[in-house]
Amino acid sequence: MPQTLPLLGTPLSEAALRVMLLGAGELGKEVIIALQRLGAEVIAVDRYANAPGQQLAHRAHVIDMTDAQALRALVQAERPHLIVPEIEAIATQELLRIEAEGLAEVIPTARAAQLTMNREGIRRLAAEELGLPTSPYAFADSLQALRQAVDAGIGYPCVVKPVMSSSGKGQSVLRGPEDLQAAWDYAMAGGRVQLARVIVEGFVDFDYEITQLTVRAIDPANDEVSTYFCDPIGHLQVHGDYVESWQPQPMSALALQRSREVAGKVTQALGGRGIFGVELFVRGDEVWFSEVSPRPHDTGLVTLCSQRQSEFELHARAILGLPVDAGLREPGASAVIYGGVDARALRFEGVAQALAVPRSDLRLFGKPESYQRRRMGVALAAGDDVAQARERAAQVAAAVRPRAA
Ligand code: AMP
Repeated sequence: MPQTLPLLGTPLSEAALRVMLLGAGELGKEVIIALQRLGAEVIAVDRYANAPGQQLAHRAHVIDMTDAQALRALVQAERPHLIVPEIEAIATQELLRIEAEGLAEVIPTARAAQLTMNREGIRRLAAEELGLPTSPYAFADSLQALRQAVDAGIGYPCVVKPVMSSSGKGQSVLRGPEDLQAAWDYAMAGGRVQLARVIVEGFVDFDYEITQLTVRAIDPANDEVSTYFCDPIGHLQVHGDYVESWQPQPMSALALQRSREVAGKVTQALGGRGIFGVELFVRGDEVWFSEVSPRPHDTGLVTLCSQRQSEFELHARAILGLPVDAGLREPGASAVIYGGVDARALRFEGVAQALAVPRSDLRLFGKPESYQRRRMGVALAAGDDVAQARERAAQVAAAVRPRAA
């Protein structure tokens, strides 16, 4: 509860407000910067050394965050006031216990982290408890059960995903029964943990998809948690992974209203304070809930150039119990920069040309190792409209050429 949060105080002293990030990738790095600008003391935890956010946090630790004992030992040693999950693969049962004991406050709540780490938890909450519109879906523990679920009503085309996965890993679109075996095998190889369970969803033939960033933060007028909506973010996904995003996505008034109703309901059900990325599919005036991240969303990197307060600043303020401004500043776009090579170290050619593009900006994340399809940076650009911003962001991304060192 914000009432029990200490005041911000001098970092590295007994007066510090300590925040522990579980996961310190490119999104965590920006949250850390925002927190440190407000004078918080930040501890960055990741499963590998020199993760982007660890390079600038006050302290860094490398642990297996799915190991409940290791997680508890670290929390006891560091005594953070706030624990901020940045990734899904965490021992969430232990977070529930840590929260219940009052050892630390989990952002937004331990239950939200637990429900969203598994596609089943959040889908059942959204569709079955909250009655939100979603694609038809079923769960399956074997190839045979998958076949039965598709035959019994999901039909083709459909999408199969491991229940524990993100960024399109292990995900495939099935056109007919001949695709079942390959989809099952791919899902089993791509899941985050050894769990033989998939969700199969009816394919939604959407016009476009959006991320509705939604902030739960204290309203200074009444000291209560209030819900704030950012302008919708449109994005393009390739193989289930985001490659481009822009803000604002033009929408009909009704589709926008429905999107916000869905986002309001699901974020209220998850509770707590912080930013949420609510993913929705839109066709005409119709909307379908797809997923929600109880944390900054990768497509929201665009807000670094398009909003008065980026999604990272909004998250930092919301979790610290401070007021937020979710307003748009100007149209903007982001384009992902992939490693393009498998290499331990990279050098980036073309950065000067990239930043010569008008109203552009760049983030190079500093990840210690590159793979072909690893996100190593993001190009940003503002424009008079979304089309111009997208064109510029694409130019910036194309100019940056990662090379093995
Ligand atoms: P997810 O990991 O569930 O966010 O899926 C990644 C991307 O795959 C989404 O952003 C969509 O572009 C696509 N996708 C996922 N599920 C469906 C679906 N049921 N119908 C159509 N496209 C989907």
